[in-house]
Amino acid sequence: MSTVHNFSAGPGALPPAVRHRLMEEFARGSHELPAIVEVSHRGARFLDIAARLQAALRRHLQLPDTHELLLMSGGAQSQFALLPMNLAADARAAYLETGHWSRLAIRQAGSSARIDIAGSSAADGFRSLPGVAPLAPGTAYLHYCGNETANGVQFAAPPVADVPLVADLSSEILSRPYPYEQLGAFYACAQKNLGIAGLTVVVVRRDLLERSPGTLPPFLSYRAWTAQAPMPNTPCSIAWFATLAMLEWLDGEGGVPMVAARNAAKAALLYAALDRSSLYVNDVEPAARSQMNVTFQLRDPAREAAFLAAASAEGFVGLEGHRAIGGLRASLYNAVPLAAVEALVAFLAEFERRS
Ligand code: PMP
Repeated sequence: MSTVHNFSAGPGALPPAVRHRLMEEFARGSHELPAIVEVSHRGARFLDIAARLQAALRRHLQLPDTHELLLMSGGAQSQFALLPMNLAADARAAYLETGHWSRLAIRQAGSSARIDIAGSSAADGFRSLPGVAPLAPGTAYLHYCGNETANGVQFAAPPVADVPLVADLSSEILSRPYPYEQLGAFYACAQKNLGIAGLTVVVVRRDLLERSPGTLPPFLSYRAWTAQAPMPNTPCSIAWFATLAMLEWLDGEGGVPMVAARNAAKAALLYAALDRSSLYVNDVEPAARSQMNVTFQLRDPAREAAFLAAASAEGFVGLEGHRAIGGLRASLYNAVPLAAVEALVAFLAEFERRS
């Protein structure tokens, strides 16, 4: 086995150049200046990284001045709780239920807001995407999960509603051009397309910050966070460093439009291979298929263990489905090269031939 092809759903693969910069950063601590994890987050070096990170994120997301960028910690799940506290306190909020992650978001939101399910695809096992039912008067926002990492379904475009849209974009941020400016708020953990775990990117339209109740502890308040930019407390500095390195790598690749074209090619190649096979199956409605997380099963699930063992022997890792769902999954984040998907497609054919 020579090359490792990493299809992990998250934490996901890093580009070799980014991994190298992380190694260099830790190595410099032993023989040069201290590494970034050993110096003050209020010092010049970290503040420079923070400023460059904010600028690079704003540029790649094409964020207008109307939107505030918050660099938080706690992962995407912490936002499941903070969002309703800040944007829908004592009000009602609507959610689309489209899979594992939006379900968890709904569960967390229930303790601070009254939640209406505006659409659900639970009845068909989350293999399609629902429409949006008329929203009750006074609905604070409509929340959706742009890409359901575990179920392999993705909204091709944001849903349409006459209230602010709020999106969990954890597993698709910066994977394709996206109308971020149309959203009232969105958030993403970093360990998929943005680097490593430890940083959570949160964007909120400035006028919505007014909703953040003054009674919230400042550490949980979006409004208080923006007043203490770039951070109120000690951040996971190596995660900020990794995301900056990732965005600089993205620049070198030609930016979002270039990786988007590659991502579309990777997904098309893999879905075509699954669709022409009589061993593997993806039963997501074609219009709802995720470009980032391709879920699939063996027609005979009893053979899954043999498949994973053979894949692992050939250097393919991270192909297990989400633990709550089972089956198989290949995640095709920005850092996954087209050549890895070509190799996977060849392996799928070879395993089928041998079966
Ligand atoms: N939302 C989505 C769409 C995810 O894929 C994940 C992680 N896989 C999360 C939320 C949770 O992220 P975290 O572990 O950073 O809380």
